[in-house]
Amino acid sequence: MFLYLLIDLRMPDKLIVPPRRLLSFSFLPLFLLFLGLQPASCGGQEPDSLAPVVTPETPAGPRPTVPNGYFLFPIKPGKTNFLAASMGELRPNHFHGGLDIKTDGRVDLPVYAAADGYISRLKQSSFGYGNVLYITHPNGLTTVYGHLNHFLGATAAELLQRQYEKQSYELELFFKPDQFPVKRGEVVALSGNTGGSAGPHLHWEVRNAQDHQLNPLQWGGFTEIQDHVAPMLQAFAVEALGIEARVQGVFGKSVFVPKTPPLPNGGGYVWADTISAFGSVGLLVQGFDRFDGVWNKNGLQRVEIRINGQPFYRHVVDDVPFPDGTRQVNQHMDYEWRFLQGRQLEKLFVDDGNDLTMYTTGPRKAACAWRTGKYTPWKSCWPTRMAILLRCVLCCGANSRCTTRLALRW
Ligand SMILES: [Zn+2]
Repeated sequence: MFLYLLIDLRMPDKLIVPPRRLLSFSFLPLFLLFLGLQPASCGGQEPDSLAPVVTPETPAGPRPTVPNGYFLFPIKPGKTNFLAASMGELRPNHFHGGLDIKTDGRVDLPVYAAADGYISRLKQSSFGYGNVLYITHPNGLTTVYGHLNHFLGATAAELLQRQYEKQSYELELFFKPDQFPVKRGEVVALSGNTGGSAGPHLHWEVRNAQDHQLNPLQWGGFTEIQDHVAPMLQAFAVEALGIEARVQGVFGKSVFVPKTPPLPNGGGYVWADTISAFGSVGLLVQGFDRFDGVWNKNGLQRVEIRINGQPFYRHVVDDVPFPDGTRQVNQHMDYEWRFLQGRQLEKLFVDDGNDLTMYTTGPRKAACAWRTGKYTPWKSCWPTRMAILLRCVLCCGANSRCTTRLALRW
């Protein structure tokens, strides 16, 4: 599902003041502007092609390829299931690292091994994941099953014995590949509500060997979850990033809340008022996604910006390094705004100190240097359309039911 934000950006009546903390400023585009040449956009500040933002601290690494259908859905496989939470939702000090699968409001539903492998680890705890089981698969990925009510079979017996030995309820055990092999579809545990859980559900994760949390839905193949509901926009914001920057005439952040519902058939929202911006600014967005048949709000997981149809910014929360990277949620969202206003805005630019690799941007990391104004001699050099695309977690392509649109005028 997509949400479009159309912006009519006008050219400055004089040159842009050199940017800001994020931009590495070059005079060449300005020189070209004087020559009447067309640089890329605010737009003009970014190259056409996007390159992943990769830093030495968190190398992206190879993206694992998992055949469609490799993983079995661990709760009621083959039947309609519902999610209480999706991958990447913004939580206090972390991204939600997997799926929260509803269990009909009860505990003790059978939990199925998602693929062949072996039980590599389990932990019994009153906190966090509660009772949690890890199954490591031949492809190097590990599936994690959290908040369980009971372990089953040989692992449960092993745990009980070790608990008596250690005289401790809370215990974490690691196993070798030949100790507790499991087959795809084997019932390995019963679902529960243990640890930091607010209601019965299964927390299900996929991790790679480096403990990155990977979105289980990214490889497709699950008919159990359906998503044909367009995301909702709650608010968007424009923030001054450079000391020279102004939004609506002030240095700070202006938050805009659409008061009218989106137009039907993908027409999206219309923001009729003029917004003024000057200098280096960034965009932020607040919204949520819903899946079919449930009313709870899931997070936005994929957001893009396009300027004049060209890619400018993209993030997809499909791969979060655990546990260090996940804390950078506080750089990804506007922490101050959440703390002070209770509003959860996600930055659509890569801020200082954020070295997560889930972003794809140009070298300016999606901060824009632009200026709006009444006098627009250079207007033709500047973008006339900017689109923010909020994509559903399960991408349903060009289906208009998955499309929302916001039009802005500057
Ligand atoms: Zn969870």
